[in-house]
Amino acid sequence: MTICREWSLVKSAEAERHAKPLLCRSWSCEYCRPVRKSKLMAQAAGGEPTRFLTLTVNPSVGRDPEERLRLLAHAWRLCVKRIRRQIGDQEIAYLAVVEETKQGEPHLHILLRSPYLPQWWLSAAMAELIQAPVVDIRRIYNRKQVIRYIAKYIAKAPAQFGSSKRYWTSQNWEDRADTKDEAASTALARWQVVMEPLSIIVSRWWLDGFIARKEGKEGIIGEYYGRAQAYTFHQALGYEGLFGQGERSL
Ligand SMILES: [Zn+2]
Repeated sequence: MTICREWSLVKSAEAERHAKPLLCRSWSCEYCRPVRKSKLMAQAAGGEPTRFLTLTVNPSVGRDPEERLRLLAHAWRLCVKRIRRQIGDQEIAYLAVVEETKQGEPHLHILLRSPYLPQWWLSAAMAELIQAPVVDIRRIYNRKQVIRYIAKYIAKAPAQFGSSKRYWTSQNWEDRADTKDEAASTALARWQVVMEPLSIIVSRWWLDGFIARKEGKEGIIGEYYGRAQAYTFHQALGYEGLFGQGERSL
């Protein structure tokens, strides 16, 4: 795996070029974390949840917290199956986020889009499945609550135990998101990966007579002005002059 922003994506047309940094998208990367966090918040709100549900583990069950999270996630899948059998497939959708408690144990914070589910039923099911009857469920009244709730439990990033997932959703959580992803991957097909950071690409463009400026949040666009003008521009501003300190230097 490459280090964040060391490689780029480029796309060329006759008089215009585009490039953007290839991001690592890791929760542990300082550059990518805020992006992932705001995407998760948007995804949380986008599913239009109606209830918060918290599921816990029993520390005396399982070898270690990592195994308890596996058991917890599995138990939740079984609960969803049972609920679906009762009320129908489309009646329940969720986004589950992992939290690590002060004791180092996993909790699942679940945003649910569902009709009323009795707390006693969930508690009994979790007691039967993994001996963890401590279950909290409450109603959501507005979107602000959703954002606050997520922000509270993912202070820096959703927790990870071993190589566990930090969060996941049911397939029907956000139907519109799928089409968005498809559109994004079709657009991506025209981009090529280049094993160079943007700072090097910009210099290449200058040598070819293209002057670069920012495009969107992270990308750059190069327009053809001819070598002489691009060279003068390059000498006058340099990469730092044009794009500031944002990019890592080699
Ligand atoms: Zn990164």
